[in-house]
Amino acid sequence: MATPGSSSTPGKTPAPAKAGAAKTTKTTRTTKAVSTPKGSSVSTPRRKKAPKQSPMLRSFNPRTGETLGEIPTIDPAEVAEVVARARKVAPEWAAILPAGRVRILKEVRHRVYELMDEIVDTVAAECGKPRTEALAHDVMPALMMMSYLERATEKALKPKRVGRIAGGLLGLSSRVEWRPFGVVGCITPWNYPITNSFLAFITPLFAGNVVVIKPSEVTPACGELLRKILEPLPSGVATVIQGGGDVGAALVDAPCDKISFVGSPHTGRLICAAAAKHLTPVVMELGGKDAALVASDADVDVASSGVLWGSFFNAGQTCCSIERVYVVDSIADEFTSALLDKLQKVRLGGDDGDVGSLTFGRQLDIVKEQVDDAVKHGARLLAGGPDAGVVNKDGSLWYAPTIIENVNDEMKVLHEETFGPVVTITRVQDEDEAVRRANEEATNLTASVWTKSKKRADELARQLRAGAIASNTHGQLPAVPWASWGGVGESGFGRLNGELGLQEFSVPVHVAINQTPSLKNPWWFPYDDATRNFTQGAIKLLGSPKIADKVSGLGDIARNIRTAIKGKL
Ligand code: NAD
Repeated sequence: MATPGSSSTPGKTPAPAKAGAAKTTKTTRTTKAVSTPKGSSVSTPRRKKAPKQSPMLRSFNPRTGETLGEIPTIDPAEVAEVVARARKVAPEWAAILPAGRVRILKEVRHRVYELMDEIVDTVAAECGKPRTEALAHDVMPALMMMSYLERATEKALKPKRVGRIAGGLLGLSSRVEWRPFGVVGCITPWNYPITNSFLAFITPLFAGNVVVIKPSEVTPACGELLRKILEPLPSGVATVIQGGGDVGAALVDAPCDKISFVGSPHTGRLICAAAAKHLTPVVMELGGKDAALVASDADVDVASSGVLWGSFFNAGQTCCSIERVYVVDSIADEFTSALLDKLQKVRLGGDDGDVGSLTFGRQLDIVKEQVDDAVKHGARLLAGGPDAGVVNKDGSLWYAPTIIENVNDEMKVLHEETFGPVVTITRVQDEDEAVRRANEEATNLTASVWTKSKKRADELARQLRAGAIASNTHGQLPAVPWASWGGVGESGFGRLNGELGLQEFSVPVHVAINQTPSLKNPWWFPYDDATRNFTQGAIKLLGSPKIADKVSGLGDIARNIRTAIKGKL
C-alpha cells in the first residue's frame, strides 16, 4: 500500500467546495516595483470574473504527520501571463550594470540572515530534518553562493576581447559580451527547499535575468518563505508561483527564455521534450547514484566517518549522497565494522538529532521497495531495514539508516537512485575494479575516493565518470559556489555554480567592429581572378605543412589583395 502523502501530486488537497473557503485566493505575489507604483502586483492578473479556485497544497511535518497549514496555488492557465509580465521587467533589470545588480542583490543576502530563525523553523518542520541541518544546509549555502556571486559577477561577465592578432589581420576587433537571456523559469525540488531553489535562480539573477520560480509542491511553506526572502527585489524580477507538476509544465510552455531545472531524471526528460517545442535551452541538474571508493590505504577512521555522513545526511535525500560504496577487500572488514559502530551512535530524532525523517511519502515507498527487492534477491541487511528505528504513526515518514551488503546486478538498489537512507557496500579486489564498477553500474552525479595518498587520489579521480569528484570528503561539492556544479549522462547537463554558471545563464554575443570601415572586403562580389588568387594564398598559408608554400601563399595574398578589394561592386 502506498504511504500517505505519496500520490503523484504530493500534499495537494482538493479545492475547497465553497469559493472563499481558502485562506487566500491570491495566487502570485511579487515584490517592490521597478516602474509600477508601489503596492501594485505585476503578477496578479486583473480580471472581472471571480478567479477559479486552484487546489491548496498541504504543508505538513513528516516527523509527526501533523498538518502545518495550507498554501494556495496558481491556476496553470495564469502562468503564461506571469511570465509575460516578468518579460516586461526583464530589459530594465538587464540594463543595470553588474555592479549595480550586485548592490541590489546584496539585500537578499541580508534578508536571508534576518530571516534565519524562520528559515530554520520552517525547513526543519516541513522537511523533517534536524535544525542543525536546516541551518547548515539551507541557510549557509545560500549565503555562500551570494557572497561568491557578489565578488565574481562583474569579472566573469566582463566583455572579453578575442582574436587580437588573427582578427587584426582581417581588420576586425572582436569581443564576446555576456548578455542575459530574459526570463529564466526555475523549477526546483523539496530536499533542500531553500538551497536548491537558490542554486537554480540566484546565478541567473546575478547574470541579469529575471526569474519565475516554481518551488516543489512537497514543501510549500518553504516556497512561501522564498517569496519573503526575495521581497527586497524590484517587482517582477523574481516571482514565486506555487503548484504541482502542471504549474511547472505551464511555466516551461509559457514559454521562458531558459529553464533552470533541479529534480529527477524522469521530470527532466518531460521538461526537455516540452522545451524542445519552443527550442528553449535548459539546464538539467538531476539525480545520481553516487559511488565512494575506499582504497586499500584509506584512513579507516576518516573514511568510515565520511561515508557515514555522506550516506545519511538529510536522511540520504541528497542528489549527491553516497548510495554505493566499493571497498577494497583487504580493508573491507575493518571499514565495515567501523561504519557499523559509528552508525549505532547516530541519533534518530527530532529537532536536535542527527538523522531526521524522510520528507516525502513517495520517497518512503521507493526506499521500502528497493530494500525489500534487495533482500528478496539475497542482500544482507547489516543495519536498519523496515523493522528498525522509529515506528511510523499518523502519517509520519521515518526509515532507519540502512546498510546493505551482498548486493548483485539484479537488484534495483544497485542501479536506480534511492534518494533515501540506504547505502550498499560492495567488496572489490582492487581499486581498478572499484573504478570499473563505479563507472559501469550506475551514473554518478559526484563520486569520491578515500585514500591517504594524494597521488592515488588524483589517479583515481582521473578515471571516474562524474560531474564532480572529491577525495576524502563527499556531499559538500554543490555548496562550493566557486567551482562548477552539474552532472554527466543521466545526472544532467549544464552548470550552475562558478563562472561557468554565470556564463550558462548568459548568451555569449560576438560583437565585431570593422577597423577599416571605408574598405570593401576582398571576398565580396564579383569573384574575379584576384579574389581567387588571394583566397588560394590564404589557404596555402593556413593549410600547407611546407614553409615554401606558406611563403608563396603570403606572396599571393600581397600581390592580389589590393586588386581584389578595388574590383568589388
Ligand atoms: P521531481 O522531478 O519529482 O520534481 C522537481 C520539480 O519538478 C517539482 O517542482 C515538480 O513540481 C516539478 N515538475 C514535476 N513534473 C513537471 C513537469 N511535467 N513539468 C515541469 N515541472 C514539473 O523531483 P523531486 O522529487 O522534487 O526531487 C528529487 C530529485 O531531484 C532526485 O532525483 C534528486 O537527485 C534530484 N536533485 C538533483 C539535484 C542536483 O543538483 N543535481 C539537487 C537536488 C535534487
